[in-house]
Amino acid sequence: MSIYTAMCENVLLPLADYATRNCTMHYYRLYSDMQWLGREELQRRQDELVRETVRTAYADIPFYRELYDRHGVNIAGVLKAEDLSLLPMVTKDMLREAYPHSCTRDTGWPWREYCTSGSSGSPFAVRVDNETMSMARALMFLRANYSGWNIGDPFLQTGMTLERGAVKKLKDILLRVEYASAFDLSDRVLDRYLDLIDSKKLDYVMGYAGSLYCVATRALEVGFNRPLTGIVSWGDNLYAHYRERVESAFKCRVTDTYGCGEGIQIAAQCGRSDGAYHIFMPHVALEVVDDEGNPVPPGQVGNIVLTRLHPGAMPLIRYRVGDLGVKSAGETCPCGRGFELLAKVEGRDTDVVVTPRGNRLIVHFFTGIFEYYKSIDTFKVIQEERARITVLIVPRPDFKPEHWTSLKSEILEKGDPELVIDMKLVDEIPLERSNKRRFVVSKVGR
Ligand SMILES: [Zn+2]
Repeated sequence: MSIYTAMCENVLLPLADYATRNCTMHYYRLYSDMQWLGREELQRRQDELVRETVRTAYADIPFYRELYDRHGVNIAGVLKAEDLSLLPMVTKDMLREAYPHSCTRDTGWPWREYCTSGSSGSPFAVRVDNETMSMARALMFLRANYSGWNIGDPFLQTGMTLERGAVKKLKDILLRVEYASAFDLSDRVLDRYLDLIDSKKLDYVMGYAGSLYCVATRALEVGFNRPLTGIVSWGDNLYAHYRERVESAFKCRVTDTYGCGEGIQIAAQCGRSDGAYHIFMPHVALEVVDDEGNPVPPGQVGNIVLTRLHPGAMPLIRYRVGDLGVKSAGETCPCGRGFELLAKVEGRDTDVVVTPRGNRLIVHFFTGIFEYYKSIDTFKVIQEERARITVLIVPRPDFKPEHWTSLKSEILEKGDPELVIDMKLVDEIPLERSNKRRFVVSKVGR
């Protein structure tokens, strides 16, 4: 361990936690140790957390109490993670209706509201307190460790936050992050990112799969040939052709991760797992079920249902997140970590829109804008020709024309002012074959 890593882990970040009323490093140490426990011990601890979470939710949250009573569920019968299938599933629509009055509680921790367009596309608010957020952040460190990265190693990160506030800026300095906005992915900007990797001697790059693909494509075009040590992807689907291009441009492995904006980090690939994802068992119970909520056998595809194993300010129990996945049949990973394995996850299915001026708009460009418009239920972007996109919108009852006006000007301003944007209000957007939602479809050859 380098001196700077030790200083970050033992002094700087614990101090930052103390100053901001968080406990990230406590959970980082806990999870770092727990990942090496055997499967049985992990299962035992997970069962304990399931019991605690379900009981707390029933005692403190009217939404869950009423739901379970209505379904005639006796929660005393929920003793293990596998008993979760006795409980009814919860959808975004159900929680949206109950928010905040009957699905949140006071934990004594400061909290924030996170808006997410999630994987199903509908905007949705979740209340997350500092303790729950600390757990998720601890797992963000842990998932990055799986690429070989250590806390304190400098890296380039692409993201969707334009305004890095004082706390985030300080964190960027401490963690030696070069932060790159993924709103603008034109050649000029991508070249600057490649220069940064070179001049700052960065060995790691992390960010949305779509943006990594754009950086890698540019790297190959301009003959960039500095090998990296590790690349971590998140967000949109890391397609096989994305992975191939990124790995060939930077001559290292991409470890993909799976999380959701609702304050849950779910799983991550390690360097040796042959594509499978380690599920963060102390933080989340992950089920793969059919449409009725019954477990699907390992090896078969089904809906991913999540239970965050910490009630926090807004418990999420058997929460249907909108992604599809396949569980592994109890295999262990050669890396030695005890966390159970998710063979495959299929989230959003998307393309990249290349604009007239050469910017590249990834799915997070659009979700990063749409998630602030609660009057829009879901959307889909279709590019029929280079200069024109059509945005299909399923409005909610409070949708007003001025929402569209401001949305449109945001897309023009952040994306490309030369785009022609049409809007179509529709009643619903049919899912693609295999039940997946495709947010961004480009029919323009690149
Ligand atoms: Zn592994």
